[in-house]
Amino acid sequence: MDTATVQCPYCGEPLDVFIDRSVPRQEYIEDCQVCCRPMTLVVSVDPDDDGAAYVDARSEEE
Ligand SMILES: [Zn+2]
Repeated sequence: MDTATVQCPYCGEPLDVFIDRSVPRQEYIEDCQVCCRPMTLVVSVDPDDDGAAYVDARSEEE
């Protein structure tokens, strides 16, 4: 498992998230470690870019 850093869409704090590079695309909900609000994390792994992982944190609340 690798980790990546994303910014919380609510409070803006940087968070460390775990990434499983064997899954090319995954989406899951995780609570912010700082403000405890749920966010959707979208992880994409690019096999053409040496398995580089990109993480997008989206707000669950509008
Ligand atoms: Zn937060």
